[in-house]
Amino acid sequence: MNLMTPAASADKDQMDTLRSLEDRHTSGAYSKRPLALVRGSGCTVWDDAGRAYLDATSGQGVALIGHSHPAVVAAVTAQVAQLITCAEAFYNDRRAELYALLASLLPAELDRFFLCNSGAEATEGALKAARLLTGRDQIVAARRGFHGRTLGALGLTWNRDYREPFAGWALGSVTHIAYNDLDSAAAAIDERTAAVVVEPVQGEGGVHPADADTLRGLRRLCDERGAMLVVDEIQTGLGRTGTWFGWQVAPEITPDAVILAKGIAGGVPMGAVAWRGALGTLPAGSHGSTFGGNPLSCAAAIAALTSIRDEGLPARSAELGARLLEDLRARSLPGVREIRGRGLMIGIELRDRVTPVLQALQDRGVLALPAGKTVLRLLPPLIITWDELMRIADAIEEVLRG
Ligand SMILES: *Cc1c(COP(=O)(O)O)cnc(C)c1O
Repeated sequence: MNLMTPAASADKDQMDTLRSLEDRHTSGAYSKRPLALVRGSGCTVWDDAGRAYLDATSGQGVALIGHSHPAVVAAVTAQVAQLITCAEAFYNDRRAELYALLASLLPAELDRFFLCNSGAEATEGALKAARLLTGRDQIVAARRGFHGRTLGALGLTWNRDYREPFAGWALGSVTHIAYNDLDSAAAAIDERTAAVVVEPVQGEGGVHPADADTLRGLRRLCDERGAMLVVDEIQTGLGRTGTWFGWQVAPEITPDAVILAKGIAGGVPMGAVAWRGALGTLPAGSHGSTFGGNPLSCAAAIAALTSIRDEGLPARSAELGARLLEDLRARSLPGVREIRGRGLMIGIELRDRVTPVLQALQDRGVLALPAGKTVLRLLPPLIITWDELMRIADAIEEVLRG
């Protein structure tokens, strides 16, 4: 695994400088791992000493098509010399092309979009759209859910550690219901509910998949009571769970709005909200973003989404994910309570804390994510090979057998 590159010649002083500069100036909001990543290609990232790591984090679920995919590099390189910024007050060729592409990937009814720059911002956009389109002001979200950390999105997010320091500021009109529990949904959704916001597989909350019947039931309740069904596909969308979108585990339903971000632009920051055009458009001036729909991100998104489509990555994720789940379960790993997942979004719930396991994997050249304190989360790029997945699985087995 020790694939040395010219970067290996970087002397130790330089690495120490890099870390001490970050430590000196970082916000402190992130608990950092003692590793500096300086390059990525496909499913591999390299540290500043030239050591290679298999990346089962995809940079927090972003690198669906791997790192620095040639199509994204080419699109960004061309666009950067053409036009980087263009506010939505003007039309733009790349943005128009992206709208058409997004519309072709989503069900035909979901044909209105608001473009922005991150997941939390997309959640905010969906909240404002739901209020403006329904004229209602109450939101229903799920316990253990995660929808971002800006103040509105934080109101939907369940984890008290994220919310409590900002009590009183975060959106107040949110009822949290039990996940996969239609009785609790039926009790919470009423004629004041603007939107029910749900992740098709809860990511940060521990990799908990929604039952197809829950999604169908939520669709029915929203129809009966006039609320919008909003799916947060920031982590599950664009092939991650083995279909284009995570809600498609119940393929016959269509949500009223879909929130996208993370992998939508191949690693370049972007978020998007899509909604059912029949519900209407937003009043002029009711929302906006300086960088939203900028040509550079749009060009990257066109390249990324085209690659996902043309490389058949949703189906690949379904096939490899199912095989990997089966393989991991067959290993009867010690210290494991449960292995869950859909497509290439997999959670291994441990009996003990996950942090030492993540460190031991890193020592073996594998990067993985936590989801809460005890869940080991795997979000590899969808272009990953079976051999690479087996290297990850073998490393996990080695670590857990200790
Ligand atoms: C990552 C994530 C977000 C937040 O996205 P940011 O780009 O970090 O703001 C929201 N919802 C889900 C489901 C996510 O996985």
